[in-house]
Amino acid sequence: MIPAPTAPESDALFARARAVTPGGVNSPVRAFNAVGGTPRFIRSASGAWLTDVDGNEYVDLICSWGPMLLGHAHPEVHAAVSAALARGTSYGAPTEAEVLLAEEIVDRTPVERVRFVSSGTEATMSAIRLARGFTGRDVIVKFAGCYHGHVDSLLAAAGSGLATFATPGTPGVPESSTALTLVLPYNDRAAVEAAFAEHGPRIACLVTEAAPGNMGVVPPEPGFNRFLAETCASHGALFVSDEVMTGFRASRLGQWGLDGAVEGWRPDLMTFGKVMGGGFPAAAFGGRADVMSRLSPEGPVYQAGTLSGNPIATTAGLATLRLATDDVYAHITAAGDTIKAAASDALTAAGVPHVVQSAGTMFSVFFTDPADGPVRDFADASRTDTAAYAAFFHALLERQVYLPPSAYEAWFLSSAHDDRAVQTVLDALPAAAAAAAAT
Ligand code: PMP
Repeated sequence: MIPAPTAPESDALFARARAVTPGGVNSPVRAFNAVGGTPRFIRSASGAWLTDVDGNEYVDLICSWGPMLLGHAHPEVHAAVSAALARGTSYGAPTEAEVLLAEEIVDRTPVERVRFVSSGTEATMSAIRLARGFTGRDVIVKFAGCYHGHVDSLLAAAGSGLATFATPGTPGVPESSTALTLVLPYNDRAAVEAAFAEHGPRIACLVTEAAPGNMGVVPPEPGFNRFLAETCASHGALFVSDEVMTGFRASRLGQWGLDGAVEGWRPDLMTFGKVMGGGFPAAAFGGRADVMSRLSPEGPVYQAGTLSGNPIATTAGLATLRLATDDVYAHITAAGDTIKAAASDALTAAGVPHVVQSAGTMFSVFFTDPADGPVRDFADASRTDTAAYAAFFHALLERQVYLPPSAYEAWFLSSAHDDRAVQTVLDALPAAAAAAAAT
C-alpha cells in the first residue's frame, strides 16, 4: 500500500521533474518505483541528517549510496573544497591534488598506479578495455547480481547454462556488446572452473565486486576472491576487483583489507569511486604497473576525460581519505552493530523471517527465510520479500529514517551517525517490523 503523501513540496517537485526528466530522477534507484510513493527532494544535509524541501528531517542510511563516509557537509572537507573553489574549478591541465590523491590511493591499496575518471561506470569500462588491450583477448567474465555501472558489456543477465554467453539485460545494448560476456553465479567455484576450462584462452579478465553490495550485501565466501585471483593467474587472465562501493568503506583498506591483505594476494586491476570522491564525481582504476603502463599516453590503450582528476573532486576526495582514520571505521562498525542487532531483534519479535549479512562495515537485511541459509548469490537474494521490505521502508520513512528505496541495497552509515541518529533508528524499528509483518 502506498502511504498518503506527507511531503507536498516533494510531490510538487516530483510532478515537475517527471515532465522534464524520465521518471523524474537522474538515476533510477532514486525513484521509489520499488517501494511506491514519492521520492523526497532533498534541500540540505548535515552530518547524519537529510532535510527535504518540506522541512522533514531523516536519519540518512543511504549516504549518497556510499560516498558520505564522514557524513554530510563535514567541516574540514567543506573548508578544503571552499578553498579549492576560489582557485578555479577546472583547468584541463595536471594539478598537485591529483598527485596527492593518487599517492594516497597507492599507499592504501595494492595498486601501483592509478588513473582518475569521473564515475564508477567509467572506471570499470576503462579497466575492461585495458584488460582486453593488455591480454589481446576478448571474453570477460562477471557474476549475476554484481553491478559495475551501466557499461554495455556488463549490463548482461545470466544465460541458462553455467558457461553460456549472456544476453543483454536492457534494450539499447546490442547482442554483440554482451556476446563476449560470460555471467556466472556468485560464490560458485565450480562454475568459475567450468568457464575457464571451456573458454580460458579467450578470457581477458574476470570482474567482480570485491564484496557484492548491489544485490544486498553478499560477502565472498572465505577464500573465494583468492580463488578467483589464482584462477585468473593460472589462465593468463586479469583479476579485476571492483571496489567502487567497498573501497575505503568496507574497511580502511576496502574489502581487500579484509581478504587480500590478510591472505597475501592482490588483484591485477581495481576500480574505485564513491568515498574517494568525497561526494563529488571522482572515480579511478588502477593496478599492476606493467598493465597500467599500456594506457595512453604511455601505451596504446586509449582512455581520456575532460573532467578526469577535477581539482574540486580530487580535493574533496583527498580531504575525505585523510580524515578516514581507523577510528572512523571503528565508529561505523559499532553503530552498524547496534542497528543490525536492533533490526534483527525487532523483526524476530514481529515474526518476520530475515537474514542480516555484512562485509566489513557494510550490511543489509534480506527478508528471506533463515531456514534457507545465507544469501550466497543472486538467486538467493531474489527470494527476498519485496512487499515486506516496502512496508518496512515506509514505516521507517514516516519515523524519520531514510533507508535505500530498494530491498537489494546495502545500508550505509557514516562517522556522523551519533547516538541521537542511531537512537532515532532504534526507536523506529519495532513499528517498521510490525508493518513488515502485516504484509
Ligand atoms: N561498481 C560498483 C560496485 C558500484 O556499486 C557502482 C555504483 N553503485 C558502480 C560500479 C558504478 O558507479 P557510478 O554510479 O559512479 O557510475
